[in-house]
Amino acid sequence: MAKHQFQTEIGQLLKLMTHSLYSNKEIFIRELVSNASDAIDKFNYLSLTDETFKEENWSGKIFIKLDKEDHSLTIGDNGIGMNEADLMDHLGTIAKSGTKAFMENLTGDAKKDSNLIGQFGVGFYSVFMVADHVDVISKKAGEEQAYMFSTDGTGEYEVKPVTKEEHGTIIYIKLKDDEKEFLDKRKTEGVVKKYSNHIAYPIVLNYTAEETEGEGDDKVTKTVSKSEQINAATALWTLSKSELKEEDYVEFYKTLAHGDDAPLTYLHNRVEGANEFTTLFYIPKKAPMDMYRSDYEAGVKLYVKRVFITDDSKELLPVYLRFVKGIIDSEDLPLNVSRELLQENRILANIKQNSTKKILQTIKKFNSEEMEIFTSQYNRMIKEGIYTDMVNRDLLLDIVRYKSSSQEGLVSFEEYVSRADSEKKEIYYIVGENEKVLRNSPLLEAYKKANIEVLIMDDKEVDELVAPMIGEYGEWSLSDITVIDAPDSKTKEEQEEISKEFKPLTDKIKEVLGDEVKEVKISTRLTTSPSCVLKDTSDPMASMAALFAQIGQSMPEIKLVLEINPDHEMIKKLDGLSDESLFADIAWILLDSAKLSEGLEPKDKGEFVSRITSLATKAL
Ligand code: ADP
Repeated sequence: MAKHQFQTEIGQLLKLMTHSLYSNKEIFIRELVSNASDAIDKFNYLSLTDETFKEENWSGKIFIKLDKEDHSLTIGDNGIGMNEADLMDHLGTIAKSGTKAFMENLTGDAKKDSNLIGQFGVGFYSVFMVADHVDVISKKAGEEQAYMFSTDGTGEYEVKPVTKEEHGTIIYIKLKDDEKEFLDKRKTEGVVKKYSNHIAYPIVLNYTAEETEGEGDDKVTKTVSKSEQINAATALWTLSKSELKEEDYVEFYKTLAHGDDAPLTYLHNRVEGANEFTTLFYIPKKAPMDMYRSDYEAGVKLYVKRVFITDDSKELLPVYLRFVKGIIDSEDLPLNVSRELLQENRILANIKQNSTKKILQTIKKFNSEEMEIFTSQYNRMIKEGIYTDMVNRDLLLDIVRYKSSSQEGLVSFEEYVSRADSEKKEIYYIVGENEKVLRNSPLLEAYKKANIEVLIMDDKEVDELVAPMIGEYGEWSLSDITVIDAPDSKTKEEQEEISKEFKPLTDKIKEVLGDEVKEVKISTRLTTSPSCVLKDTSDPMASMAALFAQIGQSMPEIKLVLEINPDHEMIKKLDGLSDESLFADIAWILLDSAKLSEGLEPKDKGEFVSRITSLATKAL
């Protein structure tokens, strides 16, 4: 018999499961039933599309057997099955991005980590919350040899050849001593009804019951074997909305999403006409853990006339909706639709477009509480949508939210516009990586003074690309306050006048700072700060920088423009200063402190500090 070592990560996962403090252990049944249903789905597809797998009288079935005497629970299916390599690859190593993401989220704190099990669902391995020993006996459809994978949830497992008639998988679970409750018919039936009532295949429960026969003295109690289908076995999405209660949708979601949370919302639609299809979509309350992994798992399963086609196509919805879970069931696609060519399929393109609209419309109609939850998890996805989906741009612009210089919480463009100057029709914003720095930026001063709201975009990486792309919201245009002139600024003539007046000063500062700055200018945007720095937008590199970032290259360095405030005491005094070395120190401080206000580093921190020290000493 071949002994194998579990992949280290699985070893860790098993340890967590074995010692789990998670109170809702019953979910292991949901996870195993869900795997069984997937396996039947896969065989069903083969039997309908591939001659070699056609079988007379085959129909998908799941069974659960409770054996009180043996203290075991067994779950079986007649699905696709696994061969030796599958058993080792699927159960002995972590391949799934979902499981990887789960592992990355572990904290080492048993209680916290146990709670993650519910948030996440860990498929097959959840069985070790209740099992002392597990045998997986499986035969792959189309192959001769069956295999048994055995483990007691420690670091090792064994695989050996066994005999098994039918293809499919049987999971024999020797329960831990204190996990008696799952041997109780009512308990297990309740769990199956709760989560798996609308799994599309019948689930038959085999159990024993005590039965009394006869009357009076002839009374005898016998143990009899019973067998009973315990689920409705109709795919949930095929039922009409009126037949379903919210709780039906919620429990189905838990099976689909492998979690214990209710979804934020669900939408179930049947479209009739030239192109017929049913969709059932869920938006999770919490973003899937693998949402930011490049190997994220697709959340939507494709069916054709109730037959499962695929669950790993990322083409069913736009990439930015990768957090949506659910089902698309088409009446028109051919069963043998090529999974590789889904992207080019016109029927599917139509379904995708329709689904995207419906999902976005649902989100747009969220009440403020729902919207808050949604935004806390998915605002970034919506920005990604704005960047990639021109067709649904307007809907996306109604959903996206930003922080604001004048409001608590997050605001929509619609709200902003309702408060702003309807003559100017400008939406002001500032982008950076730190909210606090942005809120205190000298560049905001003039707007605060003029009571003008500015959107604070602190998701720099994303906002820097997306905000300029938006350009317009209806008749309103978006303006980056680091680029445009400040409000209430002086006329061009007045500006030129002042610039001329201060030219000797700005020239002298530029001479001191040399190549550190592109230019030194008189500012129109400052009220309380003596100076600020801006990116030079006339620099062709500035727009290139966004492109560079997009393709993952580091940005070329863009020179800064230093602006000084002619109304500030410090600048006024500096203008007449004859002490050259003091002048130089102050020029550098003007630049370095302006950089700090924007979250940038001074050129030389040591020199910055020694200049401040020397000035402080002089002041004393
Ligand atoms: P998941 O269900 O999220 O894929 P699991 O850990 O539950 O993760 O299962 C890992 C893999 O093992 C599955 O993707 C599937 O390929 C295989 N598997 C599990 N249970 C069965 C089963 N009953 N029949 C066939 N394959 C199975």
